[in-house]
Amino acid sequence: MKAIEIINLLNRWAPSYLIDEWDNTGFQIGDPEKEVKKVLVSLDLDREVYKKAVEEKAQMIITHHPIIFKPLKKLTRLNYKEKLIYDIIKEDIVVYNAHTNLDLVKGGVNDTLAKVLGIRNTEPLKISYEESLYKLVVFVPNSYAHIIRKVLGDEKAGWIGNYSHCTYNIKGVGTFMPQKGTNPFIGKPDILEEVEETRIETIVEKRNLKRVLNKMIKSHPYEEVAYDIYPLNNKGRTYGYGRIGEIQEISLLNYLDRVKESLDLEYLIVYGNMDRIIKKVAVCGGSGSSFIYDAYLKGADIYITGDIKYHEAQYANELGLTIVDGGHYNTEKVILPVIKEYLEHKSLEPIEVKLYTKSSPPYAVY
Ligand SMILES: [Zn+2]
Repeated sequence: MKAIEIINLLNRWAPSYLIDEWDNTGFQIGDPEKEVKKVLVSLDLDREVYKKAVEEKAQMIITHHPIIFKPLKKLTRLNYKEKLIYDIIKEDIVVYNAHTNLDLVKGGVNDTLAKVLGIRNTEPLKISYEESLYKLVVFVPNSYAHIIRKVLGDEKAGWIGNYSHCTYNIKGVGTFMPQKGTNPFIGKPDILEEVEETRIETIVEKRNLKRVLNKMIKSHPYEEVAYDIYPLNNKGRTYGYGRIGEIQEISLLNYLDRVKESLDLEYLIVYGNMDRIIKKVAVCGGSGSSFIYDAYLKGADIYITGDIKYHEAQYANELGLTIVDGGHYNTEKVILPVIKEYLEHKSLEPIEVKLYTKSSPPYAVY
């Protein structure tokens, strides 16, 4: 498979419109036309991962964390990061990463973490992206209505929940008078025309609107297409960081045993009251300290994340929230097998997907 085909496949799952504004992630290094037979999937891309890719003869590396985060001003072999990027390019290895988009998306980092920890009925801790919706109304001669309805539906207009091609149709009479120089589908210049038409109404997500309009206008028989676009106050699909949901009521200590087992950890750092029965659990893979207040507002008993600082833990405890620091790496590594499975199941041609899980976290406990 070509690298770009794998990238498009991953973009379908974790689309770029979900990338947070401070983030820099996606297709970062390499030749999109490169033929890829073997992929190495890792959380980070450091020298060890690069060496492994070379050893495995992998043509592509897919990571969660971006290797290029701040803009590069030069590309020499004079510092660690630039040297690594230089060597990756020399080896002709393609690099793609999915960061905040993979955190947010359905089945991504946070959904997987919640699933692994047995949390049910989850919702995001903090909404960061909300889809805007528009109502599109188009007037079509009756004989063309079925064609336009199909085009709209095929272009993802009229998708509501698990229903596609949703439209509402009213029949009526359209009037128009073609002016000089026109080439009307129906009627003649300077004669008022009356045509039996269908008013097709449907709903369109903002990111699809331009494409839907282009396709609809191209497929419409009229020289000048009559259509209206109305902004809606209806809520579109929402995406957000972290997850909160429920578990069967259990003592905190028993649940922590389960967390350690599920994440394959020897220890957890716990801040706050350990002697409690819990039911509502919030999680955020990676660095989740900025969502402590959101976890509190949504009624979490405990909040499991990584990279917790002393004063952040103190603040959480004042709110009555028990904080569990499972580590940045450990709360995100759960996504790696999911990426592998996605690629293996969705690729049109077979590709070999290897997981790399050794290099991180970059510390040991004595
Ligand atoms: Zn992370």
